[in-house]
Amino acid sequence: MKQNTEAWRALDAAHHLHPFSDTKGLNAQGARVITRAEGIYLWDSEGNQIIDGMAGLWCVNIGYGRKDLAEVAKRQMEELAYYNTFFKTTNPQVAELSKLLAEVAPDGFEHVFYTNSGSESVDTMIRMVRHYWSSVGKPEKKVLIGRWNGYHGSTIGGASMGGMTYMHEQGDLPIPGIVHVEQPWYYKHGKDMTPEEFGLAAARWIEDKILEVGADKVAAFVGEPIQGAGGVIIPPATYWPEVERICRKHDILMVCDEVICGFGRTGQWFGHELYGVKPDLFTTAKGLSSGYLPIGAVFVGERVAQGLIEHGGDFNHGFTYSGHPVCCAVARANVTALRDEGIVARVREETGPYMQAKWRETFGQFEHIDDVRGVGLIQAFTLVKDKQKRALFDNWGTMGLACRDIFFRENLIMRACGDHIVAAPPLVISKPEIDEMLGRAARCVEEFERVVVRGQPG
Ligand SMILES: *Cc1c(COP(=O)(O)O)cnc(C)c1O
Repeated sequence: MKQNTEAWRALDAAHHLHPFSDTKGLNAQGARVITRAEGIYLWDSEGNQIIDGMAGLWCVNIGYGRKDLAEVAKRQMEELAYYNTFFKTTNPQVAELSKLLAEVAPDGFEHVFYTNSGSESVDTMIRMVRHYWSSVGKPEKKVLIGRWNGYHGSTIGGASMGGMTYMHEQGDLPIPGIVHVEQPWYYKHGKDMTPEEFGLAAARWIEDKILEVGADKVAAFVGEPIQGAGGVIIPPATYWPEVERICRKHDILMVCDEVICGFGRTGQWFGHELYGVKPDLFTTAKGLSSGYLPIGAVFVGERVAQGLIEHGGDFNHGFTYSGHPVCCAVARANVTALRDEGIVARVREETGPYMQAKWRETFGQFEHIDDVRGVGLIQAFTLVKDKQKRALFDNWGTMGLACRDIFFRENLIMRACGDHIVAAPPLVISKPEIDEMLGRAARCVEEFERVVVRGQPG
């Protein structure tokens, strides 16, 4: 395989521009070639077995190597590989999946709109929300409020809705009509408050923005229940209920981006269920098919669905592959397995609590780790200069990358989001596999503190 590895690296360097990558730096180093996967493990072209502590990109909820999903795809391709859903046609797979999604969703979500990705779900949501308000006679309600350090994808709409300034800097974003408020990051922004007080204060930043823009011009507030790519920022329990109250008071739609939190990641089917709130719409992708094929869905609550159906006329929006029969068949098999094999329930009752206890026990004692946090199978900690003072390292992100590189070298995939270290393994991870993952991670963190922070020889 050695020879192949070099050949593939050379081809990749010659012809492939990677997402979110500095191509020059990557080509100098050479990309790792992933060839095979099973359960929570990946193998590269040189035969290394790697623990995938990120479930791909937070998406392979059901784990790798499910032959039954491959069988479903094969059969569906042979039967009906493709037909569109635009022109008074449907297919059995999209109809059956829609019924299943209405079953697993909380009450009041009877309708879904299909996309191919999380970004497209967010773009769809933006257009749908604005079209909804126009349809019910309030066309001036157009502005969407997002949050700094939120992540909502990479299309022009998604990147605008997100609050990643390094993305805004490229391509003149955000587009008009999208504004941002500060994120509910207690560790940094809540120093002289209790978490409960901070949750309320952070929600009221949204109200301040609503009043600044004018409630009659604001269409929606959009947020991830738990920010994923921003570094697993978990808001205090008081945050979302207060956000909901503020949105209702000013007649603003509340949208949850469930692309990471959805389909069992937190131990609930959807992340907002953790907080006891009811969004008007929520966007999904990733875990919907566990990454086996690209598909996303916008779940539309009764208010918006009825407004659109009764008053909206044509919704001039859709994708060639909206409701793609093969993607829908695979998503249906995936969601059925997540439910009927008890995978989501196990995260809630067994592996999630086990991971959370072990995660805190393992990382709580390091000198340069603080804010050890998580729920279900999404967790994080932050690398800090001084725990007593709650002081972060200078040059945000440098330490995170250095730590991440040690994990990577030791065949463990966990990600750095700035100096937050995050993990989100496949939901099928077992207790012994959790022990193995955290044992390896702890050895890496020891090396990080010794070599990188204290500068002792490796
Ligand atoms: C990944 C992600 C997206 C974008 O999904 P893509 O499938 O990459 O377009 C949107 N929102 C959230 C919360 C995400 O984590």
